[in-house]
Amino acid sequence: MTRLTRADLDALPNYVPGRNVADLARELGIAEAIKLASNEVPYGPLPGVVEAVTEAVSSVHRYPDMGVVRLREVIGERFGVDPARVVTGCGSVALAEILAKSTCLPGDEIVYSWRSFEAYPIIAAGGGATSVRVPNTAGHGHDLSAMTGAITDQTRMVFVCNPNNPTGTALRKAELDRFLDSVPSDVLVVLDEAYREFVTDPEVPDALETYGDRHNVVVLRTMSKAWGLAGLRMGYLVAQPEVAATIRKVVTPFSTSTVAQAAALAALEQEDEVRRRCSLVVAERSRLTEALRKLSIDVPESQANFVWLPLGDRTAAFAAACENRGVIVRGFQPEGVRVTVGTPEENDLFLAAAEAALNS
Ligand code: PMP
Repeated sequence: MTRLTRADLDALPNYVPGRNVADLARELGIAEAIKLASNEVPYGPLPGVVEAVTEAVSSVHRYPDMGVVRLREVIGERFGVDPARVVTGCGSVALAEILAKSTCLPGDEIVYSWRSFEAYPIIAAGGGATSVRVPNTAGHGHDLSAMTGAITDQTRMVFVCNPNNPTGTALRKAELDRFLDSVPSDVLVVLDEAYREFVTDPEVPDALETYGDRHNVVVLRTMSKAWGLAGLRMGYLVAQPEVAATIRKVVTPFSTSTVAQAAALAALEQEDEVRRRCSLVVAERSRLTEALRKLSIDVPESQANFVWLPLGDRTAAFAAACENRGVIVRGFQPEGVRVTVGTPEENDLFLAAAEAALNS
């Protein structure tokens, strides 16, 4: 039969979402399973979001505001940037795709640390770009000098995930300064700050405040994690005006829905509540890290809402053993397991499962 799709995509792995909790509970014959696999915050939609969504639903027979005017104004005000520099999208992953599309022609290269966010290879391959993966350091973080060394004349874009998914490690200002100075000015650096709100280390810079004015830097943020809108798909980026203008040309029309815009506006009014929730997550992150270290797992310091268990060849068995006890975690073969910080009760269930898994 004649082939219709690109042969080079056959080898591309699928993006693997966390397993469905209801399916697992049914399979195990238990009342409830828990999912600590997708880095969501477990405290429900923010106050006011359900009401804003309910109201917005009455106008879903109309197209959304394609210019996303009010929301971009609010984001611009919040960060002190011109709204013309803000682009929203159907999750930050869609914006990362659009950045690849805006910078790379087939054969161009995208450099990123590995292991990092599993969508990066998919984004690169989907756009016909070549992935250049730079192995993480022994401490599970980005090897910035090796990343600089990996940049060639074909490199158009670099992803820097800070804090890094799935390892939770974060780059500090001095090393990021040095790296950004080393990148050629015609290479776009995407600082992916999906987990920025969970950062507590004062040495880890807020990219919008610190690097927002650099001409070749784009800051990528999501409302899926701390802001509790994962199911509505809402991300945004801040770029220099000319970069933002190009991106806006190739962004899928109407890709920020009416409902997502209304929910994001309501969520952005809840900054104090977001801060309160993040501090609960951070306290539990410390508790989980300490408890896992007591179980002899060498958990690196996390600045995100998950912890990394570098279990190596024990990864698959550990993840399966947790699942058998009703706790879904995310195994990344063959390096380790990522566990999202849940409620204190969920974390207790995970720790019990982890202890049993390690002793089995
Ligand atoms: N960047 C990183 C580092 C992530 O971990 C994620 C979500 N897992 C995203 C971007 C995408 O988030 P979303 O598309 O939900 O905005």
